[in-house]
Amino acid sequence: MEQTFAMVKPGAVQRELIGEIITRFEKKGIKLVGLKLMQMSEELAKQHYAEHTEKPFFDELVKGITAGPVVAMVLEGENVINIVRTMAGATRPSDALPGTIRGDYVLDTGKNVIHTSDSKESAIREINLFFKKEEIINYSLATETWIYVLP
Ligand code: GDP
Ligand code: MG
Repeated sequence: MEQTFAMVKPGAVQRELIGEIITRFEKKGIKLVGLKLMQMSEELAKQHYAEHTEKPFFDELVKGITAGPVVAMVLEGENVINIVRTMAGATRPSDALPGTIRGDYVLDTGKNVIHTSDSKESAIREINLFFKKEEIINYSLATETWIYVLP
């Protein structure tokens, strides 16, 4: 099973959208295997967004993601990296389709409520950046046989 990293950004915590966002993943059948409310440090924010260091919006990005608590999570399921990204919706609000998280809750790229890993490599990197091994829980859900065609 694949794992991915997702984060409810500070604006969405303030807007009380934590439950709404997690509910979407649960209803899809995706399993939560790691979850924490945390305040990101500037150092962690810079590491997390390292690929954007040279972008004109980098300072704003670091400031925004450290502006308040976030909810970090590790999600597990078949093809979850792509599925979770599709459920989050496009980066630009005008491209984010209704039915996606951003399509339903976002008007400004800089306040786009959720982060999701964009590849296998970023998923591994981001999971390790936010979670210790023992903070990721391996368990079964009773519903799994109704969600997957198992061998
Ligand atoms: P994501 O993977 O869809 O989150 O998008 P990116 O990795 O390209 O960018 C990271 C985050 O930077 C986005 O989620 C936005 O919050 C922010 N961002 C991206 N492009 C812009 C921009 O042009 N202006 C501003 N202010 N923020 C941006
Ligand atoms: Mg990205």
